[in-house]
This record gives sequence, C-alpha cells and structure tokens, in this order.
Amino acid sequence: MPPTWQPRGVGETRGTMLRRALRRRCPICGAKPIFDGWFGLRNRCPGCNFSFEREEGYWVGAMIANIAVAEALFGLLFVGGILVTYPDVPWTRLGAAGVILMIGLPIAFYPLSKMLWLWLDLAYIHPVDADDLSANDRR
Ligand SMILES: [Zn+2]
Repeated sequence: MPPTWQPRGVGETRGTMLRRALRRRCPICGAKPIFDGWFGLRNRCPGCNFSFEREEGYWVGAMIANIAVAEALFGLLFVGGILVTYPDVPWTRLGAAGVILMIGLPIAFYPLSKMLWLWLDLAYIHPVDADDLSANDRR
C-alpha cells in the first residue's frame, strides 16, 4: 500500500523527526550529542552536518514558545490555585510558586523549546534541502 503521507525531511516522517527532537537528537539523522551542556546547541549536526541555525534570528520563535509555555503554566497555576483554595487563598505561597515557576521553567524548557521549534520548521515550514547539509557551508 503506498504511503498517504509525504515526508518533508530527508526520508523521515514528521513523527520520527519529532521523536528524535524530543530526545535532543538531530531530527534529520538522529545523531547525538547535538548539545554542549544544557544550553549550547551545536552549530551543525555531527552526523549529517545539518546547520541547526537556518537563518539569522532563527531561534526567536523558540524563545517565544518558551516564554509562552511558562506564562501559560503560570496562568494555570495562579488561576487554579485561586479556584482550588478560595476563599482562603494562600497569596504568599502562590506568589512564591509563581516566581519559582517563571524562573525555573524557561531554563528547564530551553533545549526542548529549541528542538520543538526546529522540528516545527523542518516538518511544516522549511523542509531540509541540500544546502542545509552542505559540508562546505561553514557558518
Ligand atoms: Zn543530523
């Protein structure tokens, strides 16, 4: 039976690329490690030479997603905390939990936000092409 879905990566499905991205691997070839530490995404994949930063300012989308997730969870925590504890709302503890969440979550989510942004771009916006994998293109 012929596939009904057309892969957009180099022969990889969106699901495969997503699973690799969630495990902090190259979405295209699955190679690791592609991070140097928690924050440092390498410029290129050690397996397929894919350039992770595809254009100037590429990671702005990942930063926006990271902040949006933190703010959404803060909103859920804050409103949920009020609704659950009303009328004796523990404002101090709720505020402290919010501060901890707003500081900790963007740090914890940072690499995943980059990988999800990269996957989204590869899967739906700009599929990988030969220029992305060019060994001579050292930015
Ligand atoms: Zn790769």
